[in-house]
Amino acid sequence: MKYNNKSAKTHRGIKMIKNIALIRGDCASPEFVEQAVRVLNKIAEKYGHTFNYTETYMGGSAIDKFGDPLPQSELDKCLESDSVLMGSVGGPKWEGLPGEKRAEKGLLRLRAGMGLYCNNRPAKIWSQLKAASPLKESIVDKGIDFIIVRELIGGAYFGEHSTTVLPSGEKQALDLMPYSEHEIERIGRIGFETAMKRRKKLCCVDKANVLDTSRLWREVMHRLQKEFPEVEYSEMFVDNCAMQIVKNPAQFDVIVTENLFGDILSDEASQITGSIGMIPSSSLGAGTRGLYEPIHGSAPDIAGEDKINPIATILAAGMMLRYSFDMDKEADDIERAVSAVLDKGIRTADIMSEGCTLVGCKGMGDAILAEL
Ligand code: NAD
Repeated sequence: MKYNNKSAKTHRGIKMIKNIALIRGDCASPEFVEQAVRVLNKIAEKYGHTFNYTETYMGGSAIDKFGDPLPQSELDKCLESDSVLMGSVGGPKWEGLPGEKRAEKGLLRLRAGMGLYCNNRPAKIWSQLKAASPLKESIVDKGIDFIIVRELIGGAYFGEHSTTVLPSGEKQALDLMPYSEHEIERIGRIGFETAMKRRKKLCCVDKANVLDTSRLWREVMHRLQKEFPEVEYSEMFVDNCAMQIVKNPAQFDVIVTENLFGDILSDEASQITGSIGMIPSSSLGAGTRGLYEPIHGSAPDIAGEDKINPIATILAAGMMLRYSFDMDKEADDIERAVSAVLDKGIRTADIMSEGCTLVGCKGMGDAILAEL
């Protein structure tokens, strides 16, 4: 699939050609990915860019097509692209498959295969959706605008896993959580650099009172701290952080943490901002190629009903423009359009409130397109 408009002029007069590996995903995912593609096509038309899409299969659709959640051919398409835009994968149809054949395994392999060691998840409340937050108004009013920088290809998810039978006959399972200094340093550096672009506050979240890996994290972070004297650096145990995110989220600017803690905390953070249908995520490695996706899953319970909120994926497409393609103005345009739609009271079911207008997935796409 190809989309371009050769007649338009960009704000900088530069027409860019970008190749995007597009993973439409499973269950309700193709519905919301389609809305993000429509938004990108509108941006291409407006600014004179060309976005070429390569249909790529991962997860359930790849299992159906190839019997493997991420065959090499599909990983290669991602590695040859300028960036990857993805929906969500998995669903009841593929549950119960053995380890390597599971849909989620495709995602883990994709992250590792693309060398994506950093996952950025913004936790930001849209002023129009304050009522959707489960937190008290007095807490929300102080503002929620932080970002979790999560290490993505190390720790317990990528360590050795084994289950053995003890001499007593009882089974014992083991999951190793390895971290080496270079893995900590490269993500820690992104934490500091992200803080420098924001409010210059960085909190390293760990469990240094118990875990050796956490103590090594702190050692490396202290070395890095010397390179970023302007950043107000702090440390917090993960159990305390889980409490602080609901008690006083305004205190956070950037949180940097390891894979497992980051997985749990970023889901918690997504809930306090209202709906998971609003939150995008980006994963980056050493270069500019990234993987952009919504944080939510494939929502099998509402698949085919045109009910799913496409905003997270549309914002993920915006992040791709900003972080991988250096198209800040275009990304701003997308965020402004989303904000304008919310100002008009247009809502999908997950963010619906009294007095607003209910639309479906496509209707939300139409409304955002109309603002671009
Ligand atoms: P889910 O996020 O798909 O759904 C949880 C609930 O939130 C459902 O009721 C769903 O309808 C609703 N929901 C999710 N996104 C929404 C949106 N944009 N708009 C409105 N409502 C929305 O999580 P789940 O049910 O635990 O998982 C379903 C499948 O998705 C599983 O197979 C799981 O493994 C997979 N999953 C994939 C990813 C990924 O691809 N990155 C992430 C999480 C879950």
